[in-house]
Amino acid sequence: MNMPLLQMLRAAVGPAHVLTEGDLSAWEIDWRRRWHGRALAVVRPGSTAEVAAVVRACAAHGASIVAQGGNTGLVGGGVPDASGTQVLLSLQRLNRIRAIDEANLTLTAEAGCILQAVQQAAAERGLLFPLSLAAEGSCTLGGNLAANAGGTQVLRWGNARELCLGLEVVTAAGEVWEGLSGLRKDNTGYDLRDLFIGSEGTLGIITAATMKLAPQPAATTTALAACASMADCVALLELARARLGAGLTGFEVMNRFALDLVARHFPALPRPLPAAPWTVLLEQSDTEGEAQARERFEALLGAALEAGTVSDAAVAESLAQSAALWQLRESVPLAQVEEGLNIKHDISLPVSSIPEFVAHTDAALQALIPGVRLVDFGHLGDGNLHYNVQAPAGGDPARFLEEMEHRVNTLVFDAVAARGGSFSAEHGIGELKRDELAARKSPVALQLMRSIKAALDPQGLMNPGRVL
Ligand code: FAD
Ligand code: ZN
Repeated sequence: MNMPLLQMLRAAVGPAHVLTEGDLSAWEIDWRRRWHGRALAVVRPGSTAEVAAVVRACAAHGASIVAQGGNTGLVGGGVPDASGTQVLLSLQRLNRIRAIDEANLTLTAEAGCILQAVQQAAAERGLLFPLSLAAEGSCTLGGNLAANAGGTQVLRWGNARELCLGLEVVTAAGEVWEGLSGLRKDNTGYDLRDLFIGSEGTLGIITAATMKLAPQPAATTTALAACASMADCVALLELARARLGAGLTGFEVMNRFALDLVARHFPALPRPLPAAPWTVLLEQSDTEGEAQARERFEALLGAALEAGTVSDAAVAESLAQSAALWQLRESVPLAQVEEGLNIKHDISLPVSSIPEFVAHTDAALQALIPGVRLVDFGHLGDGNLHYNVQAPAGGDPARFLEEMEHRVNTLVFDAVAARGGSFSAEHGIGELKRDELAARKSPVALQLMRSIKAALDPQGLMNPGRVL
């Protein structure tokens, strides 16, 4: 049974691109090293037609398929299960930028393009592709769309969904849906594109996408600001929105422990401000000249200092300094990896309720686990926190996860739900949060999702057991 499938796969993509032996851990183990799967084969097609041939071969044999881009997903959705029967379909070789249309402000690229390469291709034409996240050196455009990635520029530009105008998808039947439109207006029936975005490989394989571009900003200014409380961070956000308008392109927050972890594991990184309960990274991008932009930015920080919203601030003086500030922020997830496994939450709430949520939930967690350490950071401008719970100092991270994960999740997700929030703001459902989805979505919503799944993937071969 397996031989003919492997033979068909080899015929589809060439024997060199069907891997069954040797060290396949790069595809079989997830980024956090929480899920260790085993694939029947890792298959690496080089074109949309080859993807379609692989899907047809799998459909003929009833073999399930796990799509994978950069394998940076954080919810265990992109690696095979342990059965050894699934085909891991890597999109990495579909990595061509197909077209850039400067007048239409669009870029069409294949799913396996590394996000950073997409940004660079746009920049070479003097244009901006605004999707940006700490994994951009290895995550792929297809993975970004399949997970509807957010990142650090959502505040101004929206998440991957908002940036996408068209898709090319290989359906579960192995047909190619050519939906690569660069149209900003197209009301011709149900929005198929929006079905596939965020579907985490459970409805079809994204092979290419047409994405929105924007003009490059003339000036970008970055600063760190120290705040005494989350309420002050939110007050600073309001002030920044009022004074900078659409020029406010980044508003990230980090608690003291998050930055302490960075200092411990990456001591060479500069820390321009003394430790504070909260540190905000703000960014302004502007089409006006450097001088005016800077003046407006400094006036904002001056007003915040005067009002006592901010206790200290440091504005980057150069592109290098600005990059160093972003590196601090982007090192938080990496520092956590060095520190050991923790219980991750990727939650969103109305910004207005975040200060009360943090006060309430911090206290409740301390009562449950005295000495617990909270790595609280994220995209405050979007109401999205990575509210991660680390074992008390000296505790064994793996044991902590095993013993406490369920109770901690219940506590945090109940607090989120009570305030009208979401238990998964940007990382998706995958395997990690499948049971939460089943427990917390309404029966009507779940039934609609199951109907969509059954209609698009009647054999249930697309990443089964993930999301639903
Ligand atoms: P993978 O991990 O390979 O796959 C993710 C999911 O998409 C899986 O379910 C997979 O089956 C499916 N998939 C992948 N490619 C395709 C395809 N072509 N067609 C159909 N399904 C597909 N996420 C954010 O949203 N915001 C952040 O700020 C952010 N920061 C991160 C920082 C770090 C350090 C890391 C490691 C991750 C971060 N993530 C973040 C999560 C992750 O990077 C993103 O979700 C990213 O979009 C995943 O892309 P990928 O190519 O690695 O996808
Ligand atoms: Zn994030």
